[in-house]
Amino acid sequence: MNIILLGPPGAGKGTQARKLVEERNMVQLSTGDMLRAAKSSGTEMGKKVAAVMDAGNLVTDEIVIGLIREQLEADNGADGYIFDGFPRTLPQADALGELLVEMGETLDRVIEMQVDDEALVARITARSTCGGCGEVYNDNTKPIPADGKCSNCGASDFQRRADDNEDSLKTRLLAYYKQTSPLVGYYYAKGDLSSVNGLASMDEVAGSIKAALA
Ligand code: AMP
Repeated sequence: MNIILLGPPGAGKGTQARKLVEERNMVQLSTGDMLRAAKSSGTEMGKKVAAVMDAGNLVTDEIVIGLIREQLEADNGADGYIFDGFPRTLPQADALGELLVEMGETLDRVIEMQVDDEALVARITARSTCGGCGEVYNDNTKPIPADGKCSNCGASDFQRRADDNEDSLKTRLLAYYKQTSPLVGYYYAKGDLSSVNGLASMDEVAGSIKAALA
């Protein structure tokens, strides 16, 4: 089963993708994570995209399509892919469709995670991530444990993303509405779309996603 998690920054795509990875033998393909890895390891591509990402703009279709192609070609025997943060533009959606056809794969469902903008700002500005395992914490709803150690892996190194600030967030939201939100109509028209309320609790959202995939 191959699925897309679609939604604005802070909708909870990464959190739900991690749950799906734990519960099913699926692989999360997050272009944001791939780009951050390239940026922190200082590759040529990483240097090229750093400023664009920090400001909250989208990197080029060519770069992200190349990253996804590489991952799909390195067949890892997974029971399906979760596309998280990809596609984000109509050309990316077309390219993904073509790549899946080339590989004899199908796109089984697109899950739109609906949230309102105020909740996004509150979530994102309070967000931090475990440097060890990527577990996501929130100052208000899921604070870092009092002993300062990740409840999942025990690491004590937590990071705030460079683009999780109000200025970059504004740009990221604009990019979502201008470039990514047309994908909701695109996948609805193809008959692939299911929408879930991303503002419910983490477990309730997971339940709605499970129902959409049944
Ligand atoms: P994310 O972790 O998905 O919020 O992505 C962080 C940043 O990486 C975005 O704000 C973009 O700068 C870049 N990025 C991630 N995925 C894509 C994509 N599919 N297309 C273009 N830029 C992307």
